[in-house]
Amino acid sequence: MRILIVDDEKAMHDSYRQVFSKRGEAAAGGAALSAMAAELFSDDEDVADLSDAPAVSGDDVEFDCDHFNQGLQAVEAVQDSIETGNRYAVAFIDVRMPPGIDGKETARRIRAMDPDINLVIVTGYSDFSPLDISRAAGPADKIFYIAKPFQAEEVMQTATALGARWRVDIELREARALLAEKIEQLEEQKLELAANESKAVHMATHDSLTEAPNRLAFMRALTEHVRERECFALAMLDLDRFKLVNDTFGHLAGDELIRMVYTLLQETVPQGALVARLGGDEFALLSRVTSEDEAVMCCELVIKAISTSFKVFGHSVQGSASIGLVVADPENDKDPVDLMRRADLALNESKRAGRGVVRVFDESMDESIRFRRQIEGGLSEAIEKGELKLVYQPIVGRDGLEVVGFEALMRWNTEEFGPISPAMFIPIAEESNLIHELGDWAIDEAVKVLQQWPGQYVSVNFSPRQFRRQNFVGHVIERVQRHGVAPNRFQIEITETAIFDDAERAAETLYRLRQMGFRIALDDFGTGYSSLYNIRKFALDCLKIDRSFIDGMARERESAAIVNSIIHLGGALGLEVVAEGVETQGQVDTLLIAGCSHMQGYHFARPVPPEQALELAERRWLGAPPQANVVEFEAGNGTNG
Ligand code: C2E
Ligand code: CA
Ligand code: CA
Repeated sequence: MRILIVDDEKAMHDSYRQVFSKRGEAAAGGAALSAMAAELFSDDEDVADLSDAPAVSGDDVEFDCDHFNQGLQAVEAVQDSIETGNRYAVAFIDVRMPPGIDGKETARRIRAMDPDINLVIVTGYSDFSPLDISRAAGPADKIFYIAKPFQAEEVMQTATALGARWRVDIELREARALLAEKIEQLEEQKLELAANESKAVHMATHDSLTEAPNRLAFMRALTEHVRERECFALAMLDLDRFKLVNDTFGHLAGDELIRMVYTLLQETVPQGALVARLGGDEFALLSRVTSEDEAVMCCELVIKAISTSFKVFGHSVQGSASIGLVVADPENDKDPVDLMRRADLALNESKRAGRGVVRVFDESMDESIRFRRQIEGGLSEAIEKGELKLVYQPIVGRDGLEVVGFEALMRWNTEEFGPISPAMFIPIAEESNLIHELGDWAIDEAVKVLQQWPGQYVSVNFSPRQFRRQNFVGHVIERVQRHGVAPNRFQIEITETAIFDDAERAAETLYRLRQMGFRIALDDFGTGYSSLYNIRKFALDCLKIDRSFIDGMARERESAAIVNSIIHLGGALGLEVVAEGVETQGQVDTLLIAGCSHMQGYHFARPVPPEQALELAERRWLGAPPQANVVEFEAGNGTNG
């Protein structure tokens, strides 16, 4: 520990030296002993070094004294000590030191450089009051006074006490600085934590793709609305054919479309409404309304807004959305989950209704769900119980009304509900996996019956889901050939929906089926999305004009025009055209004039059981056979014509 002594009297320096050398002697003695020990037992250099240590040492303090005669020298020494970092703990300063600066000025200058040094003013008579000095070289708690002449113990004790205090002060300051630093770090961490927390909250309640509120946030808002007992609308929105965008243009395009739709929704919904993304292409809207009409109108605006062409990475994507809507009754609707369920049911209905529409929930939807469940249950046992039958409706050619084939149509007679229409149970089977079982059964049945006919083909309906199953081609081939039937006597009826959802794959499937020799008919033609132009790329044999056009032919110009153009298009593409649902002679006449090649309908025969179908097949002509044209069926084993 460094001590600075400044006094103009040489005698004073001697006194100081005496004070500090007393302890120095003791230390030197200890050092001498150590040196002897070192000489005796080892050549440890550290121990030997102690003997020439210039410092004197107390019990636990070592003093290293610098002596100066003039204040300026002392100031300079303090300056040096600060620069080297080896600072003084205590300075003993004489007050009168002619000719240089006095003790007060010395103290002031030293203090200005070193805030920690303890100053001991050593004075014989008081030129300055302690207050004076303290003002110049404060703070008072670091200035001390010793009167001349002093006692050795007094100086020693002061030096020891102040030295220890100096060390503590320094340590304290370092500790404080460290503490301040720690506090600052903590403060930063606290801020960061707060930021992270709000980020976490945001992430937990928002969707990362669109930044829209997510399902959790939506459920919270919905619960809040219910609690506030207000009239509000809950709408579930789903994009139509979104999967197609993903499959055709890739997931990035799908994501981009979702983002665009979210932005559009925000712009379209009424002020204060909440738009949340529940997942995938599903959004939910929540808005206060005054009536159901208002809610429906809002939804219709939304559907209209989305029915636009989106530019996604340079591709044009036609937007379309379906909405299921519930308007909550503030008195009775208290369960948010039930509201969601009902909105979901309504959404299902709107999808079923052909997409791009709003459906408001009504109780019958709940009913219909229950009924569907029952149907599903019954259907899964129908085959085993022998409740399913196929009936056959003839398809006749224009010349002599020749029976060229039969459409196989499924019938289900249940114990519980009586006969159920395929228009009802096929879609239910389609939604579950039952359709595959039913479809396979139909193939087997139809092929068995077909073998008794002289040469006609059987036309079997396939639902979109059957058509899209893995290895559809292989599956059909295997089942038909198992019975040894030529593929050209088996016609596959599919609808536009089945092929246009994934046109490329469908084209490939149809091509392969056709290669194998199967006949292919496009069913319910005219009701779907396919343009007449589009169907050219599909390998087809036959177009079946939907019954609704035949029915409307006599009443509406549009239907007649559509029938005419389908017949002409079919002719141009070399396809057979079957008019479905022909019920009157008037329709027959119109169709024959238009050039229709084939017809089917109650006018000729209703769908009939296999025995009657066999009779019709053997009779072959429902009209007068054209005399010159009677030829045997290629694959037939005889005709009655
Ligand atoms: P679809 O394929 O359009 O079948 C023609 C429907 O029109 C049949 O109804 C048939 O009975 C009816 N129909 C025929 N001629 C006339 C007529 O002159 N007037 C009227 N008003 N209707 C006529 P059905 O048998 O009720 O079948 C309904 C639908 O169920 C079928 O429509 C078809 O989509 C589906 N379906 C029937 N059987 C099967 C099957 O085995 N598999 C699949 N996947 N679907 C089937
Ligand atoms: Ca059909
Ligand atoms: Ca049809």
